[in-house]
Amino acid sequence: MKHKNMAEERLEIIPLGGVGAFGMNMMAMRYGGEAIIIDAGMGFPGEDLPGVDIVIPDFSFIEEYRDEIVAIILTHGHEDHIGAVPFLLKEINVPVYGTHFTLALLENKVQEHGIQDYAELHAVEPRERVAFEYFEVEWIHVSHSLTSCAAVAVTTPVGVVVHSGDFKVDDTPVVGPSIDLERLTEYGDQGVLALLADSTNAERPGRTLSERAVEPAFENIFETSDGRIIVSCFTSSVHRIQIVLDYAQEFRRKVALLGRSMVRNVETADSLRQLDVPDDIFISPAQARQMPADQLVLLVAGCQGDPMSAMTRMATDQHKSLSVGPGDKVVLSARNIPGNEPAITRLISHCYKRGARVIDSSLARIHVSGHGSQEDLKLLIEALRPKFLIPIHGDYRQLYRHKEWAETLGIVEPDNIVIIENGDVLELDERGAEISAKEFIGRTFIDGTFGEVEDIVVRDRKHLSYDGVIVPIVAVNLTSGNLEPDLEIVTRGFIHEDDSADLLAELKQIVIDTVSGATHEEKIDNAVVKEKIRLALKRFIQKATGRRPMIIPVVMEV
Ligand SMILES: [Zn+2]
Repeated sequence: MKHKNMAEERLEIIPLGGVGAFGMNMMAMRYGGEAIIIDAGMGFPGEDLPGVDIVIPDFSFIEEYRDEIVAIILTHGHEDHIGAVPFLLKEINVPVYGTHFTLALLENKVQEHGIQDYAELHAVEPRERVAFEYFEVEWIHVSHSLTSCAAVAVTTPVGVVVHSGDFKVDDTPVVGPSIDLERLTEYGDQGVLALLADSTNAERPGRTLSERAVEPAFENIFETSDGRIIVSCFTSSVHRIQIVLDYAQEFRRKVALLGRSMVRNVETADSLRQLDVPDDIFISPAQARQMPADQLVLLVAGCQGDPMSAMTRMATDQHKSLSVGPGDKVVLSARNIPGNEPAITRLISHCYKRGARVIDSSLARIHVSGHGSQEDLKLLIEALRPKFLIPIHGDYRQLYRHKEWAETLGIVEPDNIVIIENGDVLELDERGAEISAKEFIGRTFIDGTFGEVEDIVVRDRKHLSYDGVIVPIVAVNLTSGNLEPDLEIVTRGFIHEDDSADLLAELKQIVIDTVSGATHEEKIDNAVVKEKIRLALKRFIQKATGRRPMIIPVVMEV
């Protein structure tokens, strides 16, 4: 990798994730030997990466510039903006700056990773500025599906660069103030060199609806239900959760929270007054079991159909205290993250089979996007009037549509609307913006909370060479849900099969127990069965042998 000598005089903007590909938002800004990182998010592996729990950006670039990095700057607390921060802090321990609520969400992760003793988290208020040698950063409040979100204005020696974070222009947010267009306009008046703007909804005409736009549909659901109302949404969707709590109060229903992240995020939001929780509204899942159906709301994590989530457990009769049943109204109040559609479809089918009604956003307006559409983007561009516009946060197609559409506004010169992708080094100053180099930016796959390797192929090779592979092959009868008798376990590089008959027999028994312990609905859900077998074997093998072989269950349906 090479940099021009004049790099010291120009600003470098280097997206490390989230630009040209969905999720994992992360960006570096460098000037004169100083660098800041804006956001460090994680991606979602979907179903094409078996055995991978989360995906984070590859930090080898960071390694190279570790001495230059002075801070991690956070725009807001969504997973795809903060999820990789604990992993990053283990590589480079630099101060992290963000709003109180963003840092509170991060704090939970920092503790999970056991790095609370050295992580240095600094909370900032909107309009607060933090100065480094060459960079001065100001947080400016924006609206989004989460609260306490910000754009950041970075003043550099070559001009001001504004990073929009994720935003929409919501004039009537449920919680907190609207976007601070006044401050953004002040920056615009003073002159903005470049705007890096959220492209997620750049293809959508008009304005994105306010978070309040879901209220009529929710009101209707509460008015017309005489059974339990089960709402599953993202556990960080504070506005949505507030709306559910308000209607629960109005319609005299109690609320039980299900799923670890739901409980934790609601507690965090409540403790920082991001939620206005009605008195005595919450009850425990155990109390919920005793409660008449028409007096109950369940607020459940797992709207993306993750096999191990509370929502899927309830829909497959595997939750320890509560299951979906006849008379329930299941409200999936979220968008489908790309890649998750098959799992969500299965979740919906499970609910219908158990006699519940399901309402998703195809049937009622129970979800609005947190990202600005074209007219929101226009308001931002008009406020800031930047010399350069750089679309970020989106697939290449969305970046391109953002550019095409912004060209029609006549505010930014078409040549000054620059599309970059992850790894591009964009050199920028008053005279121009050009891509001067390309870094190789890979992805890092995380299995559980450890096991970071730079590339899936390398990961697989290392994994296989250290601990081998186990392939349990089972056949499940789709009608009866029973395991067919000819269960097989193939191993390579793990044990000598002839010498380890006892261990193999134990492994077989675990597979049999896992499948027979599952509900009928779980048994006939290929993804759930696979994941349950994988986790059960992983736990046992780790405990019994201390090793972590790759486990690839094969489930045939007969
Ligand atoms: Zn977001």
